[in-house]
Amino acid sequence: MKYCRFLSEGQICYGSVEDRDGTLWIAGLAPAPEEDLGFHLAQLRGDARSVYFKSRPMSEVDLLPPVTPSKIICVGRNYRDHAQELGNEVPAEPLLFFKPISALLAPGSLVRMPRVSARVDFEGELALVMGRSASKVQPDEDWRSYVRGYTIANDVTARDLQKKDGQWTRAKGFDTFCPAGPFVSDEVDPEAGLTVETRVNGELRQHGSTADFIFFIPQLLRYITAAITLEPGDLLLTGTPAGVGPLAAGDTVEVTISGLGTLTNTVAPEAD
Ligand code: MG
Repeated sequence: MKYCRFLSEGQICYGSVEDRDGTLWIAGLAPAPEEDLGFHLAQLRGDARSVYFKSRPMSEVDLLPPVTPSKIICVGRNYRDHAQELGNEVPAEPLLFFKPISALLAPGSLVRMPRVSARVDFEGELALVMGRSASKVQPDEDWRSYVRGYTIANDVTARDLQKKDGQWTRAKGFDTFCPAGPFVSDEVDPEAGLTVETRVNGELRQHGSTADFIFFIPQLLRYITAAITLEPGDLLLTGTPAGVGPLAAGDTVEVTISGLGTLTNTVAPEAD
């Protein structure tokens, strides 16, 4: 199952996504994931399940971020080669941080460069979408039963502020610093190794595989939920491979993951 979230005539819709000869189509409306209703009832009241909808290419709709999380939790330095490129030790335990949900950005929308930063980096990442509430996940549990699916995220980072601030809240948390999408799929298996690639203006900058995670998903879920309850729709960004680098206004960033399509965003100066 693949689904996306989009606006149609001003209403929020969920659509099932199909690959037809290499082009992604929204084949029909899909029900909103019921589990999310508790968190985002007001948002979902506009859900247009009964609206007339004609099948159309996904490129023709106004996509929204495919999830409405209660939180976005991220793993830093989860690929050995990326930890080393920034001169960091490979962590002994997962390194966690949050991005605020106000940072979420739709596919195709503009990443805004804050004036207070002189270096804004891309970080292409696999993002896990939670399917049900998870607290204190145990080693003998089926971790996959907690997972709704996967999507793509860009953990945009003000690299200079990350160093200057001594913690990462601002550097990782600016508005527009969490592009996500274009759709959620449960048809991929990160354990088998998904290729993660980032291109800037068409040039390949990152090429990694989720088979190279330092901490794999069951370890991450156990570690995180020992402390924090994850809720349906929550996003877990799993870290970025080597090759991160700076962006400039006008750049187009594309993150492509096998089976999950391409997340494309363009960079612009901070809005007035
Ligand atoms: Mg990251």
